[in-house]
Amino acid sequence: MSHFDKEEIAQRFIRYASIMTQSEEGVPDTPSTDCQRHLAELLYNELREMGASDVSYDVNKCYVYATVPGNIPADFEKVGMREDTAAKRRENLAPIIGLVAHMDTSNAVDSRGGVHPRVIENYDGGRIVLNADRGITMSPEEYPDLARMKGKTIIVTDGTSVLGGDDKAGVTQIMEVFRFFLSHPEIAHGTIRCMFTPDEEVGNGVLNFDPMRFAVDYGYTVDGSRVGDIEFENFNAASCRIDIKGLSTHPGDAKGKMINAVLVGMEFNSLLPAKETPYYTEGYEGFYHLEEMHGTTDACHMEYILRDHDKEKFELKKKTVLAAAGELNRRYGEGTVKIEVKDSYYNMAEKIRPHMHLIDNAKKAVEEVGLTPTTLPIRGGTDGCTLSFRGIPCPNLGTGAYNYHGRYEYVCVDEMEQGAEILLRILNRYAGYTLD
Ligand SMILES: [Zn+2]
Repeated sequence: MSHFDKEEIAQRFIRYASIMTQSEEGVPDTPSTDCQRHLAELLYNELREMGASDVSYDVNKCYVYATVPGNIPADFEKVGMREDTAAKRRENLAPIIGLVAHMDTSNAVDSRGGVHPRVIENYDGGRIVLNADRGITMSPEEYPDLARMKGKTIIVTDGTSVLGGDDKAGVTQIMEVFRFFLSHPEIAHGTIRCMFTPDEEVGNGVLNFDPMRFAVDYGYTVDGSRVGDIEFENFNAASCRIDIKGLSTHPGDAKGKMINAVLVGMEFNSLLPAKETPYYTEGYEGFYHLEEMHGTTDACHMEYILRDHDKEKFELKKKTVLAAAGELNRRYGEGTVKIEVKDSYYNMAEKIRPHMHLIDNAKKAVEEVGLTPTTLPIRGGTDGCTLSFRGIPCPNLGTGAYNYHGRYEYVCVDEMEQGAEILLRILNRYAGYTLD
């Protein structure tokens, strides 16, 4: 049973997806693009219209915040508690939960021609023609998740843009939950806040958030793929820059003298475990990823990223690159290889584990809507990870959006409805209740 209307969810999603909000890498300002403001303004207005409290739009940095005050009935009447004390008590009966989604979309496909979402009702499970003129199609053979969408309502692109289901599916569900609670005071919940961020896709989603306007005990980012996925483990991450100084001589007269920087760079890579690269790894397996290498005999520059869910294995990876640099300096002379290793972010699991109710409540809510909860390790980072290390433990929930960052992106409306229902049930649980 659902407290939401599929049609309304689809319309809301299309309204948001039709606004182009691609962010842009390498822009020093937040927001990186002005177009994101159009969605921020719309959300701000809609939140005000639906009667949310503390609705605010940070015009400078393009964040939108709002609150639904808690409504947990307390037994204060019996003891003659004063109304102001009772209000405080109501607020404190449940933790304050924050819901987070990002407004920007990936710019992996140039979408300046606009986003034109198309609804396919009762999908027949076959090949979908996204754009007949350009011969752009997609099928379950290429994208196996599509097979599960048979009989459901999905929303696709016209093949010329991203859809932006990442993360407008999350924005849609949070807005639906806000609208629902504001029009159904009979369903109990603690105080809920939302935060819509810019520039997540360029790594700056929570860089400029205001902890005063988003004062919460716990959070959920609503930014995953399959509904029912609950993610709270991400990589520990470091980056590694290497500069190699060669010794260039005439090649005809180089014996015992020349140090070829590019060859030393190749030698460096050969000292790392050959099968610990993104190509060979999955699940909880970490990797060394050579992102960049360029050079001449004279000088060579390399950039790696190091990733591992396990803290010890992560530390070992850092030691391994340092040891490789040390070995080459022994072979070719001190100062040949300069290496700099910098931590980027850590696995949020250590911040979530003391608060496993976040995962347990989510799992129960997923089961209540008839799905099987899955907890998968994230092979990357999330904004929830950053928030977790800033004192707001914040796992990630699936949204029903698939094929992120491409023209084959689609969302499943049935799953978005289940996603909203899961949020509703999580929040109701934190108030000490269960629906049904
Ligand atoms: Zn996202």
